[in-house]
Amino acid sequence: MAVVVEPLVTLSPSQYGRLLRCPYQVLLEKSAEGKAIQALPGRGAGGAGPIGTIIHGVLEQANLTGIMDEAGFEAAWQQQLVAQEAQLVKKHQEHLVPLAYRARNYAVRKLLLQWLIVGKKPTLRDGESAGSPVGAEKKLTDSTGVVSGTADLIRRQSTGDLEVLDYKTGGIMEAAVSETSAPQVKQGYVLQLRLYAALLHEQAGEWPTRLVIADLAGGEHEVSFTREQCTEVLESALGLHKQVNLAVIDGKANELAKPAADVCPLCAMRPLCEPYAEWLIGQNGA
Ligand code: SF4
Repeated sequence: MAVVVEPLVTLSPSQYGRLLRCPYQVLLEKSAEGKAIQALPGRGAGGAGPIGTIIHGVLEQANLTGIMDEAGFEAAWQQQLVAQEAQLVKKHQEHLVPLAYRARNYAVRKLLLQWLIVGKKPTLRDGESAGSPVGAEKKLTDSTGVVSGTADLIRRQSTGDLEVLDYKTGGIMEAAVSETSAPQVKQGYVLQLRLYAALLHEQAGEWPTRLVIADLAGGEHEVSFTREQCTEVLESALGLHKQVNLAVIDGKANELAKPAADVCPLCAMRPLCEPYAEWLIGQNGA
């Protein structure tokens, strides 16, 4: 029997790339059965407890011995991280290691703690305060309330320019098409950042001048964009949201499945996906 899926209330920029790849996967992940699969050991993001312990340990060290700069913060963080990961292995929770890749919001939580202790925060312009778009974990929503998500960091340069940053713990670049081609930021991330730019404009009336994907080593990869591209992505996202929900309401959600050899093997929803099973039979019979 097909899994019961519900219409999507909102669509987040981080979800959009996956929704383009296979809308049915996103719907299945939100079903009761899909959530149960993701809660199995080794599936989905976890690690909230160990990260809390690391934060605690670093704060304790800051109070006892003082942490004066970013290098001191990094050393204290690494010391706590190594100890926590050793504990997890000892408790047979290897699926949560390395925490940098497994723990939800690892990079953002680390950055926020660094600001707290070392005092380096995003710049606010004179007179900029509560309603300002500048800061960490800024929620951005379009005028309809449908496309909504949280940008990791919006910062203002001394020139007044706004930048949107998103931190990624996994691979950032697409596999090279040829030996001579320059590596490109993954298309899903490009669309995500362009959506943030459009949402920032809708919400605060300002366009960013730079969109950046940052990695854990502090590297920054710029995402190209024009205002027209960002507006177009937002319109496409709104259109896709409508199309997906119409299919769900019509009872045709499984027609949204897009079985493909480069997507399905990595999809945890395979046991719930009838179109995948049918596609597999077709492939084997071909
Ligand atoms: S198994 Fe394939 S077709 Fe089915 S939901 Fe996952 S990605 Fe989509």
